Amino acid sequence: MRLKYEPLDLRTRHVFRISREAHNAYHNIFIEIIHEGVVGYGEAAPSGYFGEDQKSVVQFLSKAAAVLGDDPFQIEAILDRLGQISPYSRAAATAVDMALHDLVGKLLGIPAFQLFGLDKEKACRTSFTIGIDTIEHIRQKVREVRDFPVLKVKLGTDYDFEILKAVREESQAVLRVDANGAWTPQEAVEKINRFEAFDVEFIEQPVPVDDLEGFEFVKKRTHLPLFADEPVRIAKDIPKLVGRIDGINIKLMKCGGVREALRMIHVARALDMMIMLGCRVESSVAITAAAHLSPSVDYADLDGNLLTTNDPFTGVLLDEGQLILPERPGFGVVRREEMSHEQIV
Ligand code: MG
Repeated sequence: MRLKYEPLDLRTRHVFRISREAHNAYHNIFIEIIHEGVVGYGEAAPSGYFGEDQKSVVQFLSKAAAVLGDDPFQIEAILDRLGQISPYSRAAATAVDMALHDLVGKLLGIPAFQLFGLDKEKACRTSFTIGIDTIEHIRQKVREVRDFPVLKVKLGTDYDFEILKAVREESQAVLRVDANGAWTPQEAVEKINRFEAFDVEFIEQPVPVDDLEGFEFVKKRTHLPLFADEPVRIAKDIPKLVGRIDGINIKLMKCGGVREALRMIHVARALDMMIMLGCRVESSVAITAAAHLSPSVDYADLDGNLLTTNDPFTGVLLDEGQLILPERPGFGVVRREEMSHEQIV
């Protein structure tokens, strides 16, 4: 198998701000794994939060090419060999895992959801994320996405209540909240109990990443379901959260790809936890890969491609927030330039 990679620099419509950072450019990497003339697509979206960047992804990929071997169906063995590469890059390993699953689907001539044994009709609705901004800009952003039935509101400011109030005044959508670990447990309890008035569906990462007791403290004093994101990277991280949270947020880039995401889904189900599939700012390559897993989870937050203005690809489509999975082989992602204008929605 051959591996090719190129920079994939994405721009966002608005500066995307969460409690700890703000950006309007995202430096991802697009990869192709080629086997007998068939090409699998993958994407790495490195995160500074996890100490990754475009350069570390490229360093990893230049070594990964040598350990792919010549059988794309040996995904487990290939991922084991990737695990030996140092320094390890989870985002880069995700790109390889994604490209291999795409390749296998294309070699078999079946869409990925079928490969995973899933029913495409059970794909989730996705939320659309409203980043932190001034109240005036937030109102404007919410008005721009009136058709979306579910909004995820980023909080972690000293005017959280005003943000949520403004969003609720502008929209009848289902509201989810993500504090990205910005609140103390006591602060979280006070805020969450006040937020109940705005009909919020659940709260994501109210307390800091390493404060597992904080989760427990909040859970005992609030009614809304609590989801963990930052403390849950891989399946091994899930059992220690039992009794402290209600659900987890799985992201391909965080866990290392489709393989590990499936393991996490099984572990979370065995522990009676709810599951959300999340993303970073990514093109349709990575978003579509995650969307193919969505029939097996409860909630999707797969809007990373919608935040961008220069996505070169198209794959999963939306109908009022509902994810529509492509039926083409593999993940079914194609370059926009290869499609006729009539086909692009
Ligand atoms: Mg989150």
